[in-house]
Amino acid sequence: MTAHTPITALDIAAIRSEFPILKREINGRPLVYLDNAASAQKPEAVIEAVSNVYRSSYANVHRGLHTLANEATEAFEGARGKIAAFLGAQRAEQIVLTRGATEAINLVAQSFGQGLKEGDEIILSQMEHHSNIVPWQLTAERSGAVIRWCPVTDTGELDYEALESLITDRTRMVAIVHMSNVLGTANDAARVVKLAHDAGAAVLLDGSQSAVHMPVDVTGLGCDFFVFTGHKLYGPSGCGGVYAAGDWLDRLPPWQGGGEMIADVFEDGSTWADVPHKFEAGTPSIADVIGLGAAIDWMQRFDRTAVMEHERALLDRATQQISTIDGVKLIGTAQDKGAILSFAVEGAHSHDLAQLLDKYGVAVRAGHHCAQPLMRRFGVESTLRASFAIYNTAEEVDAFIEALKKAKGFLI
Ligand SMILES: *Cc1c(COP(=O)(O)O)cnc(C)c1O
Repeated sequence: MTAHTPITALDIAAIRSEFPILKREINGRPLVYLDNAASAQKPEAVIEAVSNVYRSSYANVHRGLHTLANEATEAFEGARGKIAAFLGAQRAEQIVLTRGATEAINLVAQSFGQGLKEGDEIILSQMEHHSNIVPWQLTAERSGAVIRWCPVTDTGELDYEALESLITDRTRMVAIVHMSNVLGTANDAARVVKLAHDAGAAVLLDGSQSAVHMPVDVTGLGCDFFVFTGHKLYGPSGCGGVYAAGDWLDRLPPWQGGGEMIADVFEDGSTWADVPHKFEAGTPSIADVIGLGAAIDWMQRFDRTAVMEHERALLDRATQQISTIDGVKLIGTAQDKGAILSFAVEGAHSHDLAQLLDKYGVAVRAGHHCAQPLMRRFGVESTLRASFAIYNTAEEVDAFIEALKKAKGFLI
């Protein structure tokens, strides 16, 4: 890890200048990129790191006996160590690298799922991303386990009392999003962990958003599994992974077979490689993982709390201004939330609004955000979502609100 003190006074203009794409114009206007919850843009340091792998240190990783293979392996395993330190894991071996959060949840659902039997229960919440629903549905079908749903309150918070009564001695897994990609709600993970562990159940936290929008310490949280995805952390797409506490990885069976994950292969069976490689079949996304290591180095330059406060100020400004527009309904008004603003506009379809906003250079997302059960909970088919990152500014919030007013004027 970096030895120097992280920067608390953020120079946003300097930060922006490190992101080449932010210099683009869209439809003759400066790009206002507010689609960060779907994917973040990449700083020069990440672009360089990926291109340098291919330019000067590329080869397949592990078991290499030549210089390039050793360099690539060192950089790849170095990235694993950076990820572990960033998340507060005690050992690099607790991090399994995957193609992203989706694959990481499938890994846990399938591997952990092999130990489930009929009548066991898995608890999910109504605010889960489809990535933290469908893998568990597949596991439930295979094992006969049952999924129970924790409701969400009108402000977009977990109903902790309902959760408490749902957790019983049949509960094996509580899989909950740490920060909702739609509502922005930061769930009280420590409370969830306590409730689950008291009943002997494991906890998986979907940290796809929390890892970028707030300081995270997986050891302190006490969760069993924590998944993350590289492309939302200013890193490349196609990489991410899962942290597993204690000796989970030793106890769980492998989920995919192939090269890299074995110790020995015989005609009548095989033995497994040490963790975490037991869970990493096939050639990984080598350059992308190394790029994610560079993204984490880049993020470690800044104080995580200062970044959260900067994003929170943007969220507060946007929330305050949007609330003055007639017909806007905010979805997700929890006290404790990250920089994600979802809303619907009465009488205007969110897709039409998003397309009009693009005419003003403003990129937001419209749709169900891979959270259809949550859309139904709030009685909407889709929302518009503006989500903020370290490089966004107050001027961009104002430009977004101005464009939204104009777009609404066209449609209504
Ligand atoms: C983006 C996201 C995912 C899926 O991440 P991928 O990178 O697509 O695998 C899962 N959960 C949440 C909360 C997300 O925001």
